[in-house]
Order: sequence, then structure tokens, then C-alpha cells
Amino acid sequence: MHDNASDDRYDLLVVGSANADLVIGVERRPAPGETVLGSDLAVHPGGKGANQALAAARLGARTALLARVGDDDHGRLLLESQRAAGVDTGGVLVGGAPTGVALITVDPSGDNSIVVSPGANGRLTPEDVRAAAPLLAAARVISVQLEIPLDTVAETVRGRGPDTRLVLNPSPPAPLPGEVLAACDPLVVNEHEARYILGENAGEGPHDWAPALLALGPRSVVITLGAAGALVADSRTGSLDHLVSPKVEAVDTTGAGDAFTAALAWRLGRGDDLREAAAFAVRVGAAAVTARGAQESFPTLEGVDAL
Ligand code: ATP
Repeated sequence: MHDNASDDRYDLLVVGSANADLVIGVERRPAPGETVLGSDLAVHPGGKGANQALAAARLGARTALLARVGDDDHGRLLLESQRAAGVDTGGVLVGGAPTGVALITVDPSGDNSIVVSPGANGRLTPEDVRAAAPLLAAARVISVQLEIPLDTVAETVRGRGPDTRLVLNPSPPAPLPGEVLAACDPLVVNEHEARYILGENAGEGPHDWAPALLALGPRSVVITLGAAGALVADSRTGSLDHLVSPKVEAVDTTGAGDAFTAALAWRLGRGDDLREAAAFAVRVGAAAVTARGAQESFPTLEGVDAL
């Protein structure tokens, strides 16, 4: 790592969602019209934005979060978990709607059904982003996902500083404006998101997808491949590299993509090149699948070194 952290900017600003994950274990997920009894309710802090901010902070990144939560217990849970991990929550807005919620039922095989109420995430507006201009200017890297309104994502792209790098994970996948695609450095997708963006022109597999995604405008592309690691393509060098994930015993892959993206974004902000950053990120992703849960599974730097 080439540490260029001599200034006091944030390593990473995450502009994104914060949800309470409400999880109930069931023997069988209910059919339409059916009621089933389940386990005690478990409430976990989640949402892709909050996940990424917490994952980066746990690794030691100087991290800030721009998000919106409700003035309710779920919002307080999210703020507390972020602060406990060391995330600067000064940019988290409170009120306007209830905190976003994911209602999750999980059966014994691990299959789940999820209903998301975006709540306050859907009220994070372009004006909120404009009002946070100093925060955007103070970030080396900004990471965004698509659990907030697309025009808020576009405003983040426009409002970033001239030397601020943008990392975008288009999840859940949605059509992306050209100006957003062109700003990504990198665009981080899993196989499902790559296929969604490329549609019928997807080609055979990741080695076809990477150049096809670059042709849409991003300066670089990272395709995560689960246990197989990640493929990294950089339009500046013309390089295409496969970073292999360490072999681990996977217990729960929830949040692996968020841990990966947070680690990648942090290391890019610290001066790594894309290949170096992705080589670190596949190790963080692998560490995250060795423990249950999302935020609970995100490793410290020592945990990554121990792999
Ligand atoms: P999720 O939606 O579960 O958060 P994702 O589909 O966005 O994940 P993946 O490609 O599944 O992303 O995983 C991200 C990274 O996590 C991979 O690039 C890899 O480094 C690591 N990873 C995921 N699954 C495994 C596994 N079974 N073994 C080792 N590493 C893994």
C-alpha cells in the first residue's frame, strides 16, 4: 500500500442506504395467503450503504456516511452501530420517513424471502447531496449503490471533487445514465448485475463481460465471482486480471459483496492501483463469508491477515 494519507480527508465517503434487517427463521416460507409461525425476531443493522461504511471503518479506514434514517428505534440502532465502528455519522440525516426495513424470512436450507421498504432511503434527495458538498469534497473515494434514488446517485456523481474517485456497485440493478457509467472507476458488479447491464449482449462469461462493460463507459470494471474471486479490467492499461480468492469454509455469504467493495474503495483511496486493491478485497470478501451475518461478519485488518 502506498500511503498518501498525509492530508485529513476521508479515505471513503459512502452515499447510500441504511436499513434495519428484521429476520425470522421459519420451517417453511409462507405460500400466498398462508400464515406460518417462526422464531423470535432478530433485528440487525444493514443496508448496502451502512454495510460498506462499517466494513471500511472496521478495517481502519477514515470513513463517513451520507444517508437518511427515520427518527425511530431502527434509525438509532443504525447510528449507534456506525458510531461504534468509528464511522463519522455527521452526514446521516434523520427524519422524513421511517427507517428503511428489510423483512426477511429464512428457511432451514438458508433460502430466504425478502421484502424491502426503502422508507427514509427513498427520501435521500439530490438537495441533501448538494447540502453535503463539503463532505463530498473531503473524500478521496466515494462509494455508491442503488438502494437510494437514482437522481441522488447522479447528483453525487456530479458533486464529487475533481480528484475524488467514484466506486459504484449497481445493486439492486437498474438502468444507469451514461454520465454515471462514465464516472465509475471502477464499476463493481457480481455476475447477476453484469448480465442485467449487458442484457442479450452479455456473451459467454466474465472474460467477455469485462470488455463489454468497459465499452459502456466506465474507466475500470471489477466483476466479483464468489468463491472464484474477481476479474479486474482497466481501460487505461488494457489489462484483464483474475484475482483468486483464498479457499475458506463458507458459512454465510451475506454481505460479502459489500465487504469486498468497501475494502476495494478504501485501498484505492490509500493509493493502491486497481489490481493491488482487488487482491486485498478478495481476501476481505473471503474473510466475511467465514462468519454469520452481514455487519457481524466483517473482518478487522488482523482478521484478514490471519486468513
Ligand atoms: P453478496 O450479495 O452475497 O453480498 P455478491 O454476489 O455481491 O455477494 P460475490 O461475488 O458472491 O458478491 O462475493 C464477493 C467477494 O467475496 C468475492 O469476490 C470473493 O472475494 C468473496 N467470496 C464470496 N464467496 C466466497 C467463497 N465461497 N469463498 C471465498 N471467497 C468468497
